Amino acid sequence: MIGAMTRIIRGVLMHAPSSPFHGPGLEAFSDGGLAIQGGRIVAVGAFVEVRGQYPDAEVSDLREGVILPGFVDLHVHYPQARIIGALGYRLLDWLEDHTLPEEARLADVTYARALAKDFLRGLLKNGTTTALVFGSHFAAAMEVFFEEALASGLRILAGLVLSDRNLRPELHTTPQRAYQESLSLARKWHERGKLRYVVTPRFSLSCSEAILEVCQQIQKELPGTFFTSHLNEMPEEIATVRKLFPWADSYCQTYDRFGLVGGHAVFAHNVYPQDAELECLASYRSAVAHCPCSNAFIGSGIFPLRRHLEAGVKFGLGTDVAGGTGFGILKEGLMAYLTQRLLPEGYLLTAPQLLYLATRAGAEALSLQDEIGDFGIDKAADLVYVKPPRGSSLEAVLRHAETPEQVLGAVFTMASEADIAEVFVDGEERLM
Ligand SMILES: [Zn+2]
Repeated sequence: MIGAMTRIIRGVLMHAPSSPFHGPGLEAFSDGGLAIQGGRIVAVGAFVEVRGQYPDAEVSDLREGVILPGFVDLHVHYPQARIIGALGYRLLDWLEDHTLPEEARLADVTYARALAKDFLRGLLKNGTTTALVFGSHFAAAMEVFFEEALASGLRILAGLVLSDRNLRPELHTTPQRAYQESLSLARKWHERGKLRYVVTPRFSLSCSEAILEVCQQIQKELPGTFFTSHLNEMPEEIATVRKLFPWADSYCQTYDRFGLVGGHAVFAHNVYPQDAELECLASYRSAVAHCPCSNAFIGSGIFPLRRHLEAGVKFGLGTDVAGGTGFGILKEGLMAYLTQRLLPEGYLLTAPQLLYLATRAGAEALSLQDEIGDFGIDKAADLVYVKPPRGSSLEAVLRHAETPEQVLGAVFTMASEADIAEVFVDGEERLM
């Protein structure tokens, strides 16, 4: 610590350093201190104790709200930042009539860059400090996206989206082009700053076997890259995939056959898994992005959360903009809670479990739990300061909350973008 400036953030601190599905999970300090040096957490605990350890540190007083670890969004589409809110569709007609025409506009690099800025601002304003981003089908649009993501300071994992059938001709690639463009983007951007490259076939429905082979090849050539795609979102999608891959016993097998189900893989949705698919995901330590707002908005169905828990499949939350309803991970937590309540055999989620799903579970899904996800020593100081505006109804509720669970319950139920007062990445304020 010689010469390093220390700063202490003082306030109500809450995090979930272990899973509240298997133990208490939540740790809270009503007058807490979090000491930061060089962007890393060096101490956390009661303020008086942390202050005692670092008597000369500068103190930032954030006692008017709640400080949580930065949120992790496991599934969010960059090209769809401006088309949130299209009512009345189901997945396949939503894609064809509403979404793919917008995605085709990213052929224009100027448009793509402006969109990238809107998108990254959307994440930040909602307290998301790490996101697994579904990219664009255009390499040039991904190039500008990575530039903007690097400048944003956020922890972004993303890659070129690959498809060669069943979308629109301008969104289709060829296996050879997919290979060359992906490799060139990955070599340039993977592990540059906080960026990571993600091999991203859109879904088996829009990919030939040759494209899936290319995905496998890229991952072989660049070990440590991530993988993401969609899985088991809606019955009509699953039926089409089964027709396209008659040899496969399941949707999951269309990826597994090409070695794409692994420890660095995150699959969005999985609303309709077979038991064998859950076993497969669990055995590879692959993760699922649970996107409850999107599942309701597009009418996909209710996530079998209990079956994922029982099978030991890792999962966290995703907003799935623009199938989803916005960039708020807190809202996803609430919707996960609400949809489970409506399911006859649904899981009754607790406030600490929602916090875990919004933070540490996302970090675990990305194998980044040693880096982010809670206030552990040596982790990056990625923080969200939730402070409702004066006179707001949430402020009134928080003033009367007596336990950490009540505070968290109110935050997940009521907080939105307007309540995110400050976001820190690597200990630096990022919100204006
Ligand atoms: Zn999606």
